[in-house]
Amino acid sequence: MIRKFISRVLGRKATASSGQPAVIAVVQHGLQRDQISRGCQRTIATLQENGYQAYVVGGAVRDLLAGLTPKDFDVATNATPEQVRHCFRRSRIIGRRFQIVHVNMGAETIEVTTFRGHHGEQGGNTAQTDEQGRVLRDNVFGSQAEDAARRDFTVNALYYDPTSETIVDYHHGVADLRQKTLRMIGDPKTRYREDPVRMLRAVRLAAKLGLLIDPAASRPIREMTDLIENVPPSRLFDEMLKLLTSGHAVRCVTRLREEGLHHGLLPLLDVILDQPLGERFVMLALDATDHRVREGKPVSPGFLFATLLWNEVLVKWDLLKSRGEPVIPALFLAMDEVLDVQAEKLAITRRIAGDIKDIWALQPRFEQRSGKRPYGVLQQPRFKAGYDFLLLRVESGEVDPEVGSWWTDFLHAGDEGRAGMLLPQPPGEARKRRRRRPPSGGGASVTE
Ligand code: ATP
Ligand code: MG
Repeated sequence: MIRKFISRVLGRKATASSGQPAVIAVVQHGLQRDQISRGCQRTIATLQENGYQAYVVGGAVRDLLAGLTPKDFDVATNATPEQVRHCFRRSRIIGRRFQIVHVNMGAETIEVTTFRGHHGEQGGNTAQTDEQGRVLRDNVFGSQAEDAARRDFTVNALYYDPTSETIVDYHHGVADLRQKTLRMIGDPKTRYREDPVRMLRAVRLAAKLGLLIDPAASRPIREMTDLIENVPPSRLFDEMLKLLTSGHAVRCVTRLREEGLHHGLLPLLDVILDQPLGERFVMLALDATDHRVREGKPVSPGFLFATLLWNEVLVKWDLLKSRGEPVIPALFLAMDEVLDVQAEKLAITRRIAGDIKDIWALQPRFEQRSGKRPYGVLQQPRFKAGYDFLLLRVESGEVDPEVGSWWTDFLHAGDEGRAGMLLPQPPGEARKRRRRRPPSGGGASVTE
């Protein structure tokens, strides 16, 4: 009822079922040309001057309508990649599976994509799928209507033309956004089967935009979470990272839990969220990350994943120590085990895995506050990340607050102040170190 009313108010010219999109005027949608970046406006103007259709598309239109600042501006056009490239001197074709063109406009890079065609039944362009129905190849050009139909949610299928300041809307996306509904285009089950990552996107976009997932789209998720296992680990990693650095990670994770989706859907969050200390730590870390993102500060994926996995490391570390493994080797073993398990599902890159380990490996060293050792810790390249990590451990109740404030003071003290802060050597420490040195040759020897 309300939807119909809003549709009428928005001046829809025809229904989507007739194949004709609504063309919504600026007085109705309110989006001004100046809200689009300069580079994007120029790219579109050039394509149009060359006789092609060109629109701002996807997340940027959606975010602007929702009052958010878009991350970037993407353009969709009926020109082929070759044709696009001929329109711009500073442009190049990238991607093999589905070519897109990067157009350089001053400091901006605009991604220009040719309308993609329909996969599946229509037009004989049958997409290749795996046994579960996941689309493996999806690389044919098509019409604007087909391009709209293959997008995931109605709010993501809006085309804005800065020249006429109109929005072309095939799937009632503007109305859905007004009604705060995230609605899938087509049959949700089929769309999740084609690409299980859409389940994660649903949760992330709903949290980011403050939308409610349409029940038809949220209901099937519970029974389909297993499909996530078929997604290539590198893609899952990218999507997890997007979710965690969306600026709304706490809301995303809370949503996932409310819907019972954190099991299986996010392997990383299994176990962790079911342990009180682990949950507190993860939520604190995500909250801190959300604040950083919203302030426009960079966040480090290594730090983020280090926090998410820390509780698992602690559990494994304790187990190994209880079996008589020395403290530091036990930690390194635990770290490798935890990262190996994750590597099966998430392709954590080598560089990020290195960052994660550096942060973890620093933690026991914060307990050494006598002799020269604290100075060595300060010199570590990842000291700042390790120290921030320590403060989160303090905040979550895992570490004595006195340790955290000691390091804060030590960090800010001058040379003399620092010397006065050092704790007395534990009894026997100096002797043990002296005796040990020749055979062990240093390294990460810790004696407590
Ligand atoms: P954000 O950039 O805020 O993370 P987005 O919706 O812009 O969100 P992108 O990955 O940049 O996400 O995708 C751009 C557009 O491509 C989307 O708005 C949507 O129309 C389409 N799209 C992206 N991923 C999918 C998918 N898995 N299935 C169908 N369409 C998709
Ligand atoms: Mg985007």
